[in-house]
Amino acid sequence: MFDLAIMNGELYIEGNYVNSNIYISDGKISKISKQVLRSKDEYNAIGKKIFPGFIDPHVHFELKGGKYTSSDDFYSGSVSAAYGGITTFIDFLDPISTSAELEKAYLKRRKLSKKSVIDYAFHGTVKNPKNQVEQIVNELKKLHFSSVKLFTTYSESNRRTYDEEIIKLLKFSKEKQFIVLAHIENNDLINMNSKQKICDLPIARSSKAETSEAKKLAHYTRKYDGSMYMVHVSSGNTVKALKEDFSDIINSDFYIESCPHYFTYNNDIYNKEDGILYSMVPPLRSKEEVTLLKELIDNVNTIGTDHCPFTSKEKQKEKLLDIPMGIGGVEHSFNIMYSLFKEKIIDKMTINPAKIFNLYPRKGILSEGSDADIVIYDPLKNHTITNDHSLSDYTVYKGQSVSGQIESTIVRGNFIVKKGIFIGGTGEYLRDSR
Ligand SMILES: [Zn+2]
Repeated sequence: MFDLAIMNGELYIEGNYVNSNIYISDGKISKISKQVLRSKDEYNAIGKKIFPGFIDPHVHFELKGGKYTSSDDFYSGSVSAAYGGITTFIDFLDPISTSAELEKAYLKRRKLSKKSVIDYAFHGTVKNPKNQVEQIVNELKKLHFSSVKLFTTYSESNRRTYDEEIIKLLKFSKEKQFIVLAHIENNDLINMNSKQKICDLPIARSSKAETSEAKKLAHYTRKYDGSMYMVHVSSGNTVKALKEDFSDIINSDFYIESCPHYFTYNNDIYNKEDGILYSMVPPLRSKEEVTLLKELIDNVNTIGTDHCPFTSKEKQKEKLLDIPMGIGGVEHSFNIMYSLFKEKIIDKMTINPAKIFNLYPRKGILSEGSDADIVIYDPLKNHTITNDHSLSDYTVYKGQSVSGQIESTIVRGNFIVKKGIFIGGTGEYLRDSR
């Protein structure tokens, strides 16, 4: 007898919908079959679409940045994520410069993350790891990490990783089986100063800074036969440039992540009264760049939210340099992206991140033997986004009309959200098993 049966749903399997039942035992998908079999509990999913649980590969819960800490801790952030159909998120360790700091950084985040109600992993993060790359890589592997993030910018706070170390990381990446995540902006083209206000943000951090640096890093990736993942691509110009010159490595050695906000808003908003609420890095781009980004969606491999909200009060600062950067969105990414792109978006939120970050085939698909991480979605319940479960006092997506609604979210066979009601759960830390 099975623990749970999800009956008569439209199952998203390998890009198609199949009308069938999912039978779950011990947290795993035990059987997918049209047959009616006995189970202890049953969920009628007739008329509902059934997706593999979504994976958000880019969130920042309880992130201390300067004076402020991002509004959501691992509990509220994961509850909000579960309402958005996310069953696994990947957060980041604090940046380190030497291998000796890594284990401490790991234990610190592990302790905080115990509150998570859904499954999770971490990316390692480096800051200016001068002459330490090999030691850090070895330590990362010892702690079963398969990804490490760097910044090409933020030299003023000593977070920048310089080209020499980027190249070393790329050279190690395939042999040591890890992927280099990069926050890509040309440090020399960024011009932030104490005179600027929010309306200056798009000029201070231009898309030229992103595009030029992305081309350089893609070039390094090819030249040194590395493995790289570009986080939060903001401009269609960047994707276009990468597509033109690097189509041979995109989706095999070089991956592109973008975020829902870059498809939803453009930088006109920074001239409006509440523009400050949309402050993030990289910033929103021009209307033309947003249009281009949408046109090039097929070249974007994954959708991450870069969820890092602050309260509207914390955001209210005269000077650009004083504004804590980042917005929330973990609860809305599927609704927003699915409304824009329909079925095209599903792989980018499931199987693609699962494969890139070594969670596959445990996560990212509806298949016998995989974790029973499941989203039940009602395609008929169109709705307007109002409030959400994040602890920030606002969401930039408020007022957006979206198609359908997530009805239930299941992690390893347990309902975390059932028909809109929060049930609760205990997230499991996912470490790379290699
Ligand atoms: Zn981020």
